Amino acid sequence: MAVQRGRHFLQIPGPTNVPERVLRALSRPTIDHRGPEFSRMTREILEGLQKLIRTSGKVVVYPSSGTGSWEAALVNTLSPGDKILGFETGHFATMWKNVAVKMGLQADFIPGDWRHGADPAQIEARLAEDKEYAIKAVTIVHNETSTGVVSRIGEVRKAMDRAKHPALLMVDTVSSLGLTDYRQDEWGVDVTVCGSQKGLMLPPGLGFNAISEKAFKASSSARMPRSYWDWQTMIDANQTGFFPYTPATNLLFGLREALQMIQEEGMEEVITRHNRFGEAARRAVRTWGLEVNCLNPQEYSNSVTAVRVPEGHDADALRKKILEKFNLSLGNGLGKLQGKVFRIGHMGDFNDLMLAATLSGVEMGLALAGVPFKKGGVQAAIDYLAGNE
Ligand SMILES: *Cc1c(COP(=O)(O)O)cnc(C)c1O
Repeated sequence: MAVQRGRHFLQIPGPTNVPERVLRALSRPTIDHRGPEFSRMTREILEGLQKLIRTSGKVVVYPSSGTGSWEAALVNTLSPGDKILGFETGHFATMWKNVAVKMGLQADFIPGDWRHGADPAQIEARLAEDKEYAIKAVTIVHNETSTGVVSRIGEVRKAMDRAKHPALLMVDTVSSLGLTDYRQDEWGVDVTVCGSQKGLMLPPGLGFNAISEKAFKASSSARMPRSYWDWQTMIDANQTGFFPYTPATNLLFGLREALQMIQEEGMEEVITRHNRFGEAARRAVRTWGLEVNCLNPQEYSNSVTAVRVPEGHDADALRKKILEKFNLSLGNGLGKLQGKVFRIGHMGDFNDLMLAATLSGVEMGLALAGVPFKKGGVQAAIDYLAGNE
């Protein structure tokens, strides 16, 4: 591959661009994780996360990927043979369900078309049929990163309440937290699952669980084997600002900095900024004559846009061309969407010019790869951005 100059554009939907401030925080000398400075930092971070997740409940931080925090949510609240109810919004919902099955849980999985969010009415119907309360948890991915579709968590909660079903509600916010409106307490979410490498602008390596009172109660009788993921030992150690094992010290430096950055900008402002990116990207896609994968405008993602390539064209060949020619990485189609979509990540430490450049790379790439399209997508996007401060 030819030598590339200039900045690499990392526009996959996570890991996202890590801002300079966070990079500098990460590069500080590691400190004693049982010393007083560390203890103060832990408390600061846990409070910051509570604010971001909008919960007064406990939050735990693992040195793990997002997948680890899926597993943590399940093993802390459930017992062998328990049933979960999932909804097939896309690749990540499927993977979470697969984790549950591998752990020895049963899974009821409502099929989806990978172009819509979780359907509250179908969830309500399944729960209403479950008279014995065999379903112990409903697992939903908030922003399905593989499809660019957001599920309406508040509506899912209302559906569960209408069915008068006691199952826990668990929500994956790996690509929505710090990007899209999210309210654990108000929406009655019992476990929020998250990771560090998307909206939190950190490298991969931290996983989170935010725990409602009800989920915490469930954990005292849950019988799934757990050690590394055990909430209780983590929460006990966190009381004094420490961890039951060596935490990822330098990632925590970065997390403290990232949480500060989000608070400085303002959570509402962060969401508004991402909403503009989503709208601008979709205008570009429509002008090109291509299709946004998400079919319901109420469920558009503001952090990632999945774009369908016309039948007979390969999204991966297009991405390869764009990487080689313009040093721009786009997300690939995952699972059922492999080769059929490419994904534009527009989240985290990101601004209008970065979006304009990213869309320019896509528009030039479409021409080079011989994908039929109409010119003017970038123009439509920048007209929107300039007209909507
Ligand atoms: C990225 C992502 C994950 C997976 O996280 P890993 O860190 O790769 O384990 C889970 N869920 C969603 C919605 C994601 O976007």
